[in-house]
Amino acid sequence: MLLLEKHERESLWKQVSEVVENYLEDLPRLRVTPQISVAEARSLFNSMTFDQPLSPEAAVEFAAEGLTRHGIQTSHPRYYGLFNPTGTTMGIAAETLAAACNRQTAAWGHHPFGVELERHLIRAFAAKFGYEPSSADGVFTVGGSEANHTAFLTALTNAFPLFQTEGLRALPAQPVLYASAESHHSLLKAARLCGLGADALRAIPVDENLRMKPGALVSAIREDRLAGHLPFLVVATAGTTNAGVIDPLPELAEITARDKLWLHVDAAWGGAAALVPELRPLLAGIERADSITFDTHKWLSIPLTAGLYLTRHTDVLDRTFRVEPAYVPRDGAAEGVVDSYKHSMQWGRHFLGLKVFLSLAVAGWEGYAETLRHMTAMGDLLRVELQRAGWILLNKTPLPLVCFADAFHPDGQTAPYLEAIGGDVVASGNAWISVTRLGAGTPALRACITSFRTGPDDIRILVEALGRARQSFGRVTTLGAGHFAGA
Ligand SMILES: *Cc1c(COP(=O)(O)O)cnc(C)c1O
Repeated sequence: MLLLEKHERESLWKQVSEVVENYLEDLPRLRVTPQISVAEARSLFNSMTFDQPLSPEAAVEFAAEGLTRHGIQTSHPRYYGLFNPTGTTMGIAAETLAAACNRQTAAWGHHPFGVELERHLIRAFAAKFGYEPSSADGVFTVGGSEANHTAFLTALTNAFPLFQTEGLRALPAQPVLYASAESHHSLLKAARLCGLGADALRAIPVDENLRMKPGALVSAIREDRLAGHLPFLVVATAGTTNAGVIDPLPELAEITARDKLWLHVDAAWGGAAALVPELRPLLAGIERADSITFDTHKWLSIPLTAGLYLTRHTDVLDRTFRVEPAYVPRDGAAEGVVDSYKHSMQWGRHFLGLKVFLSLAVAGWEGYAETLRHMTAMGDLLRVELQRAGWILLNKTPLPLVCFADAFHPDGQTAPYLEAIGGDVVASGNAWISVTRLGAGTPALRACITSFRTGPDDIRILVEALGRARQSFGRVTTLGAGHFAGA
C-alpha cells in the first residue's frame, strides 16, 4: 500500500514531473491572485473522507489542481510581496531527493554526508559575512524566526550562565533586549518563548530613514541599567521587512562592544547582499556581530524553508543545546564532529542544506551575484517608473523594496486611499502588492521584487495596474495621468 508497485511509481514520477514542468511554464500567464472563498476552500475537501482510497493518479491530480490554482501565486513574476521567493529549479529537485532518501540529519553517524554538507555551507556563508570560517559555526533552522529564537537563547546563555541550569528565575533582575521599532515580529515571539516576556523587548525609535537611532539605544540601555534591569542583547536588522532598511551596523557594533552586549544581526533577507561585491559594503560591520540570522529561502530563492543561524561563538552554541542522551550513537565524537541536534531544538531533522547546496553548486557565487543584481535593477526600474507616473517614494534603500504613495490625489497619502488602490491591483489579478505602515504610522503601498523571473514587462504591468486603480478613484488623478503621459 505505502510502497507502490514499480509500474505505478514510474507513471507517478512522470505525472508529477509533468505537473511541475507545466506549472513552471504556465505560471507567468496565470492570475497572481486567484480568489477563493472560505466556503469554497473548505468544500474542496467534502468528498475526501478517506473511506474510498483514490488511485495515485487521482490523488496527485487533486493536489496539483489545488496547489497550482488556488491561493496567491508567490512564485509568480508579479508577486511583489512579503519575501516569498520563486523557488530555484535545483531546489525543487533537491526536495524530492531528500524525501526519497529520508535521512535523519540530526546525528553525524546517521548522515555524515548531510551533516558535513551543511557544515560546509555554514562555513561558506559565514565567510561571506566576514567571519573567520574555521572558527565560525551555526546550524540550519526552519527559518529566520527559529534563528532569531536561537540568537536569544545563545545570548542568554552567554550573559547568564545560571540560565542553563536554573532558568530565568535564578537571575537577580529582569533581562532586557533592544531592537528597532521596525524589527521583525518573530522577536516578540522569541521573547515570549524564552520566558523573558514581550515587555523585555525594548522598541528603539527609528530616524527619518527608518534606521535604529544609536543615541536612543544608548539612552535606553542607560535607563534600564539605572532601573536595575539587565541589558544583554541588541538585535540589528539588515533589511527590514517593511522597507528594506539596514540599521547602522558599525555604530551598533561599537555600542555593544563597549557595553559588553551580544549583537545579533537579523539579516534574514538583506543578508544576500553579501554575495554581490557592489552591495557588500551595505553590510559593513556585520562581521562584528556575535550571531547572524540569514534565510536562504528569501533572496537566495531556495524553496521554503531553510534558514541559518551563524555565530562566531561555537562554545556558546554548544552550551545552549548540549545534551547527551544514552540512546544516540556517538560516531565521530572522538574526531570532534558536531551532531546537528546539539546545536538546535530539533531532533528529527529535514535535510535542509541539500536544496541550498544544489542551487549554489549549479548557479555558483557568480550566478547568484548576477541574479541578485538583476533583481536589484528591477527594484531601481520600479522606483523610476513609479516616480514617472506620479507616485512618491517613502523609503530609502538600495535593496529592491519600494514603499510609495500617490503624490497627486488629495487623499493619496491616506490609508483608506492606499488600501483601495492596493485592493484594486490585487483584485485585478495582475500583481500582488500590500499596504503597510512605516515608522510612526505613515501608510504606504509596498512592492518588493521577490522573484528572479520579474522582468521589465512585469514592472510596466504593475505600474499600469496602479494607474488604472488610481483612475477608478477619479478627481485629480486624471490630471496626474494626463500630465505624466507625455513625460
Ligand atoms: C522573513 C524574516 C524573518 C522571519 O523568517 P522566517 O523564515 O519567515 O521565519 C525574520 N526577520 C526578517 C528581517 C525577515 O525578513
